[in-house]
Amino acid sequence: MNQPLHPNHHSPEPGFALRQTLYKGWAALAKPVYRVLPIASPDVISGNQALAEGIAELSKQGIRRPVVITDTAFVDLPVFQRLLDTMNEAKLNYSVFSDIVPDPDFSIIERGIEHCRNHDFDGVIAIGGGSSIDATKVINPCARHNIDPRRVPGMLKLRKRGHYFMAIPTTAGTGSEATAAAVITDEQTHQKKVVISLTVVPELAVLDPSLMMGLPPGITAATGMDALTHAMESYLSRYATPKTDALNLESMARIFDHLPRAFHDGANDEEARRQMAIASHNAGVAFTRTSVGWVHAIAHQLGALYGVPHGLANAMVLPHVLGFYLPFAQPRMAQMARHIGLPGASDADLALALVDAVHNLCNQLQIQPLLSMVKEEDIGRITRNVIDEVYRSPYPVPGYFRSYGELEAFIRGMMVAR
Ligand code: NAD
Repeated sequence: MNQPLHPNHHSPEPGFALRQTLYKGWAALAKPVYRVLPIASPDVISGNQALAEGIAELSKQGIRRPVVITDTAFVDLPVFQRLLDTMNEAKLNYSVFSDIVPDPDFSIIERGIEHCRNHDFDGVIAIGGGSSIDATKVINPCARHNIDPRRVPGMLKLRKRGHYFMAIPTTAGTGSEATAAAVITDEQTHQKKVVISLTVVPELAVLDPSLMMGLPPGITAATGMDALTHAMESYLSRYATPKTDALNLESMARIFDHLPRAFHDGANDEEARRQMAIASHNAGVAFTRTSVGWVHAIAHQLGALYGVPHGLANAMVLPHVLGFYLPFAQPRMAQMARHIGLPGASDADLALALVDAVHNLCNQLQIQPLLSMVKEEDIGRITRNVIDEVYRSPYPVPGYFRSYGELEAFIRGMMVAR
C-alpha cells in the first residue's frame, strides 16, 4: 500500500526518535489519570418524542432565555421549524444564532459569544451536527464568563462551566453530545485546535431519530464512518477499559448492520437511524475516555487544509491506518472482526478480514479511500502537524512509525489507489 520514499522528499527530523520516546513515557504516565478523570456523561432522552421531552426538561430546569445554536444550512430544514414550534408551545423566550458552518473557526465562535451576551441567555440548545455542538461547547462558557475563546484549546484550559446545555445531534456521527472535547479551526494557522475540558459535556443529550430521517446519503455515510472510526480507534487505544470495550464492540456491530441501511433508505428506515444514533452516542462516551489515534490526526489535516468534511476524511484514512496497525494490534483487531461476525480461522485471518470489511463498507457507501486531494508540497507540513497532534493530545496509539520518513511515506502512500 505504501509507496517507497522518494529520496528528494526525505525529511529526517532529527528530534523524532527522542520526541517519540518522551511521548511514550508521558502517555504511559497519563494512562491511570485518564482512567479516573471525572468525565460526566449527559442525561439522555431518546426516541421519537425526545425533542418535545427535551424541551419540557429544559423548562423544568427553569431555563427561559435559551440561545439556539445551529448552522447556516440547518435553519432552512423542516426539522428546525419543528424545534421552533416546540419551543413556542413551551413559551420560551429564545434567540437563534445560526452562523455556524462546518468546522467552525474562532471568528464564528466570537460572533456566537457576542450573540449570547446580547440576549442575556440562561441556557443553550445546540441542534445539528458536530460543528454546531462543538461551537456551542466553547461559546457557552466563554460568553457566560467573558473568556477569550482563542485561549482555551488544549488540555483542561477551559475550567468554567457555561449555562445549562442541551445538545440535539442530527447526524450520527461525531458523538460530540457525549464528549469532553470540541474541535475549532484556527483560521490563521489552518489547524484544527482541540479543546479538552471536563466542563463542556452537555447536561442533556436528545437522541431523536425522527430528526435524522432527512440527512442526505452522502452525509449519512461520512458521519456514520466517523462513528465507526471513533469506536475502532477507541477500542485500539492503550487507554481502553472493559467498559469502553463493551461500548465500542456494540457500536461497531450496530454500524456494520445499520449504516448501509441508513445510507440506502435513510428517509424511511427509522430503525436504522435509531441504531446509528445509539452507536454514535456510545462511541462518543467511549472515546472521550480513551482518546483517538492516527486516523484522526491525519484526517484533521485534510479538513483544515482542503476542507474535507470530518467524517469523510476519517473514512478515507481509516482502512489505511488499520492496515498499518496489523503487526501491532492483531489480537484486538481479530476481536473486533469476531464481534461483527466476520469469518477467519486465525487472528491473522480475522485482522485482515477486518481491514477488508472496512474497505468493503467504504465501497458500499461510495467512499473512495484515496487521498488524491493531498498536494506533494503539503506532505511535509501535514506530517509535522500529524506528529504534533498525536504527541500533544495524547493519542495513545497501538503502534508507532519508526521514523519521520516512514510516516511521510505512509501519508504519500494513501494518495495511490490500493
Ligand atoms: P456538521 O456538523 O459539519 O454538519 C454537516 C452538514 O450536515 C451541515 O451542512 C448540516 O446542516 C447538515 N445536517 C446536519 N443534520 C442534518 C439533518 N438531519 N438533515 C439534513 N442535513 C443535516 O457535520 P458533523 O460530521 O456532524 O460534524 C463535524 C464536526 O464535528 C467537525 O468540526 C469535527 O471536527 C467535529 N467533531 C467533534 C467531535 C467531538 O468529540 N467534539 C468528534 C468528532 C468530530
